[in-house]
Amino acid sequence: INSSPHRRASAMSPHLGLKKVLVTGGAGFIGSSVAMHLLARGDSVVIVDEMNDYYDVRIKENNLRRLREMCPPEHHLVVYVGDICDEEFMLSVFEAERPRWVCHMAARAGVRPSIQDPFVYIHSNIRGTTHLMELSHKFGIENFVFASSSSVYGGSKSTFFSEDECVDNPVSPYAASKKACELLAYTYHHLYRLNVTGLRFFTVYGPRGRPDMAPFKFIDRVSRGLELQQFGDGSSSRDYTYIDDIVDGIVRAIDRPYPYQVFNLGKGSGTSLREFISIVEKHVGRDAIVNVLPDQPGDVPYTCADVSKAYDLLGYSATVSFDEGIRRTVRWYEDEYVKNICVEPETQANGMGRAAS
Ligand code: NAD
Repeated sequence: INSSPHRRASAMSPHLGLKKVLVTGGAGFIGSSVAMHLLARGDSVVIVDEMNDYYDVRIKENNLRRLREMCPPEHHLVVYVGDICDEEFMLSVFEAERPRWVCHMAARAGVRPSIQDPFVYIHSNIRGTTHLMELSHKFGIENFVFASSSSVYGGSKSTFFSEDECVDNPVSPYAASKKACELLAYTYHHLYRLNVTGLRFFTVYGPRGRPDMAPFKFIDRVSRGLELQQFGDGSSSRDYTYIDDIVDGIVRAIDRPYPYQVFNLGKGSGTSLREFISIVEKHVGRDAIVNVLPDQPGDVPYTCADVSKAYDLLGYSATVSFDEGIRRTVRWYEDEYVKNICVEPETQANGMGRAAS
């Protein structure tokens, strides 16, 4: 077992909560938000995260600090720092903790960086996920829920994405790695009857959001009076999903095992780039300086999640409007990020692109 200072409980610690859930990537944006929700309702949470430097690690350390602060003594949180691809390490985590549910959020995220360095993505995302599913079937996990991505729809002609579409045209190594995870998940369900649910997230934003993604970047740059890059005329539109809605969908999937399912988790409606910038201006209280550039090759004008399957089978529906979500995110940026975590702009993940996931 990795004896990192982040580790907070002895091995073989008792299960005190309702469910004992292994949350991989639990120091990251979505993983830490799920962990907070599970702890708040009384579940036990075991986090595994390698604390990589894809973006400023102080953000992840702050996430873990907040989890420890909110975790009442009668509840149970254990944090391991290590790589999900390290077989010996992960075996010892499963042996020590005996989780019954797995919420697998750990991955190398980001579309454009995956084109520069595909092997990191193949390693963490495909090898890591396979390794976790192998352990999950050996340890009799009741439900394996994992993060897929709307990027699997990449080459689709449609702009209203539904799970029934034939999706076999991923257009980046990141998207291909997520598609590979979905295929492997089916294989583990078929071979071993492992209950597996894949969740295709559509651009997630909110407090503690990733600094490489457009919602954080736009708020940050408008707040600091720096120029934004807008590709195209501003009419292109994306489905942005507030973090609380995504957490609600993940927890519903954890609580409702299916033999094998894939769900879209999105808002189900789009926001244009122009509207996005004006909402950020309104909540930051400052005009954006916009540099308009030509459309990027390969960008599609409109994407939107069909969330009817998640509604029918999980009871999921997104409730937070984009306006309200950005208001809450700006409040977090000003009250927590700037005061407690603030990083130099150059140390953040690079690029000024559109929302990547
Ligand atoms: P994130 O980078 O904030 O969190 C991922 C965490 O996983 C990080 O803390 C990282 O240190 C950890 N990690 C990565 N590789 C690891 C490894 N090999 N071993 C252990 N830990 C490892 O990203 P996020 O936005 O919270 O994304 C969570 C999941 O959701 C990812 O699988 C991502 O691909 C997926 N997703 C996110 C979005 C989005 O909009 N944020 C959209 C679609 C899919």
